[in-house]
Amino acid sequence: MTDFTYAVDADGVATITWDVKAKSMNVMSTEGFALLDSLIDTALADAAVKGVILTSGKKDFAGGMDLNVIAQMRAGGAQAIFDGVMQMHGVLRKIERAGMDPKTKKGGKPIVAALPGTALGIGYELPLACHRIIAADNPKAKIGLPEIMVGIFPGAGGTTRLVRKMGAMMAAPFLLEGKLSDPKSAKAAGLVDEVVAPDALLTRAKEWVLSAKDADLVKPWDDKGYKMPGGAPYHPAGFMTYVGASAMILGKTMGVYPAAKALLSAAYEGALVPFDTALKIEARWFTSVLMNPSSSAMIRSLFINKEALEKGANRPKVDDQTVKRLGVIGAGMMGAGIAYVSANAGIEVVLIDASQEAAERGKAHSADLLDKGMKRGKVTAEKKAEVLGRIHATTDYAALAGCDLIVEAVFEDPKIKAEVTAKVEAAVGADCIFATNTSTLPISGLAKASARPANFIGIHFFSPVDKMNLVEIIRGKETGDVAVAKALDYVRQIRKTPIVVNDARFFYANRCIIPYINEGIRMVAEGVEPALVENAAKLVGMPLGPLQLVDETSIDLGVKIAKATRAAMGDAYPDGAVDAVLFAMADQGRLGKKANAGFYAYDAGGKREGLWEGLATQYPVAEVQPDLTTVQHRLLMAQVLEAVRALDEGVLTDIREGDVGAILGWGFAPWSGGPFSWLDIIGAARAVEICDHLTTTQGTRFTAPALLRAMADKGETFYARASGAKAA
Ligand code: NAD
Repeated sequence: MTDFTYAVDADGVATITWDVKAKSMNVMSTEGFALLDSLIDTALADAAVKGVILTSGKKDFAGGMDLNVIAQMRAGGAQAIFDGVMQMHGVLRKIERAGMDPKTKKGGKPIVAALPGTALGIGYELPLACHRIIAADNPKAKIGLPEIMVGIFPGAGGTTRLVRKMGAMMAAPFLLEGKLSDPKSAKAAGLVDEVVAPDALLTRAKEWVLSAKDADLVKPWDDKGYKMPGGAPYHPAGFMTYVGASAMILGKTMGVYPAAKALLSAAYEGALVPFDTALKIEARWFTSVLMNPSSSAMIRSLFINKEALEKGANRPKVDDQTVKRLGVIGAGMMGAGIAYVSANAGIEVVLIDASQEAAERGKAHSADLLDKGMKRGKVTAEKKAEVLGRIHATTDYAALAGCDLIVEAVFEDPKIKAEVTAKVEAAVGADCIFATNTSTLPISGLAKASARPANFIGIHFFSPVDKMNLVEIIRGKETGDVAVAKALDYVRQIRKTPIVVNDARFFYANRCIIPYINEGIRMVAEGVEPALVENAAKLVGMPLGPLQLVDETSIDLGVKIAKATRAAMGDAYPDGAVDAVLFAMADQGRLGKKANAGFYAYDAGGKREGLWEGLATQYPVAEVQPDLTTVQHRLLMAQVLEAVRALDEGVLTDIREGDVGAILGWGFAPWSGGPFSWLDIIGAARAVEICDHLTTTQGTRFTAPALLRAMADKGETFYARASGAKAA
């Protein structure tokens, strides 16, 4: 175990260097923490040591706790977690006290954290326990506590120390939103004490250690007469902070994220008691959050599995397929976005449209986004010129020579797509991979227009391309492994998260989201109060209610998809009742947000005002309303059963992709970890019970799939079942 090394120089300054050998970024493990503890003991016990510098041997300080360790901690049960966390508090408190006399507060040894770069999670909680934090002026570095983003909260004293350091109000964005700062902003916010030139970091740290006075080592909360900045909870100002924060959190999380509530409780209850008791309270709440199945599901999907997919968990074993020159055909909304994210990632892009004007308009989209970035200080003029210089807007297919990947994003029309496919294939080499960004047309059908179907694949982006991080890769019947690897390597280059699915109507994401929208519309037709439908969705953690979602994506698109689906399915088509509502809305010109009229009413500026009152006249609200849980079960099961069917039919081959894809693709209740994680949380038996009840009351669309029923009989979970075949 060499996660930390120890050296003492001639002036008696000890340096503890964090450098986890097998990793590019330091992460804290249980063993690492024990070693750090013993090195602190060594330094404090050695009379020749005057003080300690805690730094890193890498370009960054640390990325945080090893989340795999956190995931495993749960297995030991609540008491084991609590004991482990309290032990950690003990070590950090030892650093903070640094051997000083508890009464006179004299005789301690200064301990300074010298951060060369990024310091996240425990990588910032550890410095918080030191007496001074000096950061190198490294604008790429990120400093902060992002725990809340993966469903937990800072539980190694970060919550208690930050609230006491800056007050609850000022600490709120860092704790509750996981806001990260570069070193200069961190200094301005009071997260670090000093920012120095990178090559002066260790010299300055040593200088501070050698000049520190006893008083410099006493934390405000260990000093007599400490008052909490901004006021403690029963101070008039503090009172308002906590009341406001409580309402704000409930509004933002709808009460479904246990971590945010627990964090606020830890901060509030901790503020009422002495520091060491506050740490104990923080540890209790942290234990409670770790024991909540939501937090482990979120860690698993949003961190462990997301990262595994990004690293190519399902990539075929073929040579590196890094994209050098990309052709984008169709410079409309999607094509322009695809050109931007690719050029931004350093890829040369040939952007083609039917007219030069349309191609230039597509390129202008990149200029717009880069200008916005410049306004926010995120993009320099050089960077803008560089990115735009990589986009060649043209109508000439000959410019595609030398491209190794094409993404086609022309109109959603199989005939036009077929013409484009033939034209592209005549202009590129035989190894070039051709990807279509179609959202509804089966890949295997479109591949018929290709002379090289093994090179033909689906790469389905979500809108807006620069914001949405999921990319759905669709393997057609004849798609080869090189094409899949090419798509995956490309998605990695543009730093998005891929899932790979097999070809079927609507692939995976749209297949699940359409039944969600339809269930909402069906309820309106039945006379369920529209506000009940929308609020039920939000109260179960969906970012948008189904009616708002269809307004955003546009009602005429819904009509188009409904017509095409009905034509393909014939008598088996199940959504006649939904179509009646959709078509009526479209006939009245209520096409959604873009028309300033849909299920919602909008003001002249396009701002959503509330549900459209006319709905009640056309679909009178029934006297007896369903209860909230029934509405939520209908909305969730509509999506989740489709995900199970996709798995059963082999469209999905990996539940990790099903869960990650659902959260990133359409915002499926992130607190649950995704549809398969949600089913595991409630259990297959309970899921079947809900399905059976809904089948009786609502119809056969809720019939429990045979797979789910079999799992209920055997008491299986999806993740336990999958762990045999694939690490999850
Ligand atoms: P769009 O209408 O904004 O853009 C299409 C572009 O293709 C236009 O600029 C048009 O001039 C160009 N074009 C048409 N025929 C062409 C040809 N023969 N040669 C060259 N260029 C041609 O459409 P969009 O929303 O960007 O959608 C493009 C594709 O992406 C469609 O297949 C769509 O289904 C799919 N898609 C759309 C979304 C979305 O949210 N809009 C999401 C995922 C996928």
